[in-house]
Amino acid sequence: MSFRDTTNRTDVHQQMDSEKRVCKVCGEIVHGRSDKQYCSDYCRATHFHTVNADVTSYMRRVNYTIRKNRSILSLLNPKGRSRVHKKKLMEYGMNFDFYTNVYKTKAGKTYFFCYDQGYIPLEDDFYALVVKEDYVC
Ligand SMILES: [Zn+2]
Repeated sequence: MSFRDTTNRTDVHQQMDSEKRVCKVCGEIVHGRSDKQYCSDYCRATHFHTVNADVTSYMRRVNYTIRKNRSILSLLNPKGRSRVHKKKLMEYGMNFDFYTNVYKTKAGKTYFFCYDQGYIPLEDDFYALVVKEDYVC
C-alpha cells in the first residue's frame, strides 16, 4: 500500500503546506512535498555549493595552521630533542588548539603531534619538543 492511499498522510501534508515554508536560499514560498526545503533545483544546488565552499575553506585554514605549527616545532628542534619556553613558541605563531594526534604514554604523559613533530608541556611553561621516528600513530 502506498502512503498516498492513507487519509492520515494527506492531512499532514495539507497542514504543513498551510505553514507556508520558505526557500532556505532565496526566501520564495516552497510548493510541494512537506520535506522540500528549496523552491528550485537551482537554489538547492546553490545551498550545497555554499556549504561545501565553507567546509573547504575551513579545512584549508586548519591544514595551514597545523602545517605552520609543524614548521615552528621543526625550526626550534633541529636536533630532534629540545626544551623551549611557551613564549618563544607563541612568538613564532604557534597555535596550540590544532594538532594531528595525541600520544599518551603508559606513565600518563600526553604528547601532542603535528605530523612527526611533537611537544609535551613541562613545568614553568616550558615544552619538550620531540620528533617521532617511526611515523606510526
Ligand atoms: Zn529558492
